[in-house]
Amino acid sequence: MILLDGKIASASVKEELKSMTDALVEAGKPLPHLVAILIGNNGASETYVASKVKNCEETGFKSTLIRFEQQVDEAELLAKIESLNQDDDVDGILVQLPLPQHISEQKIIEAIHPAKDVDGFHPSSVGKLVQGLPTFVPATPYGILLMLAHFNIPTKGKHAVVIGRSNIVGRPMSILLSSNIPQGNCTVTLCHSHTPNLAELCLQADIIVAALGKPEFVTPHMVKDGAVVIDVGITRVADTTAKKGFRIKGDVHFESVAPKCSAITPVPGGVGLMTIAGLLKNTMQAYINNRG
Ligand code: NAD
Repeated sequence: MILLDGKIASASVKEELKSMTDALVEAGKPLPHLVAILIGNNGASETYVASKVKNCEETGFKSTLIRFEQQVDEAELLAKIESLNQDDDVDGILVQLPLPQHISEQKIIEAIHPAKDVDGFHPSSVGKLVQGLPTFVPATPYGILLMLAHFNIPTKGKHAVVIGRSNIVGRPMSILLSSNIPQGNCTVTLCHSHTPNLAELCLQADIIVAALGKPEFVTPHMVKDGAVVIDVGITRVADTTAKKGFRIKGDVHFESVAPKCSAITPVPGGVGLMTIAGLLKNTMQAYINNRG
């Protein structure tokens, strides 16, 4: 069984990017610049954004964190995004989701200029993804492709079952795995909360991508021998014995499923780290497209 270790795969992506930023420094050129917008004080969002900023630093990128109060006006947020769209020193803009209820997520996503849409959520980016055109691939599915590539996991001709159809993970993952790309060419079944025979479908899968946000949902009776299991789930489960009062759980019951797999991602230390690698790759690509 191969442990698809996100530390190893993301380190290799970051090394490649660091050598590119080192070359930019040597040539006296500006560095790729990611701007992250964080609204309110959601604990998980704080952690994700802090990690993105830290990884930018480690890779030699410039990063700026802009914070807004939970009560921020939608108009104020849109004005800030517009000024970042106009700023030639900014390559990538991300607004950490989820947003407070009074702000339209769709409006915010559409306000980010597609050339700086390093999260790949803009309808223009998604349309290009569906048509197989070059674009920014949403960071989590992109990270999973990078992970599969790093560990040489074959996908061509395989049956992949993706559980979850969100715009940020499941849906783009299903499109990518079915696309004619190196980590694609799968036959894909996309499952969701209205899929009646989920376990039966999973049992037919060579590759399972679990992205539903239900801790330890995937159990051994759903997994065939030798399957590749990619666990996207990150849920904080209360645990008084843990220092922080919670533990991070994936969507797969790792201990019981791992012995059946040919390869599996751990949580934490798997897809989460690759998501950041995907985001950094997109930011470098935006830099190259816009001022490389
Ligand atoms: P979401 O809530 O937007 O979507 C969940 C999807 O799962 C929905 O499409 C729903 O139909 C489906 N679903 C829910 N219950 C189901 C069930 N019982 N059977 C089948 N399908 C079911 O979630 P999301 O934003 O896609 O995130 C999914 C999980 O991945 C969460 O735990 C989230 O924290 C995690 N996540 C991790 C990363 C990372 O970097 N590792 C990135 C994004 C999201």
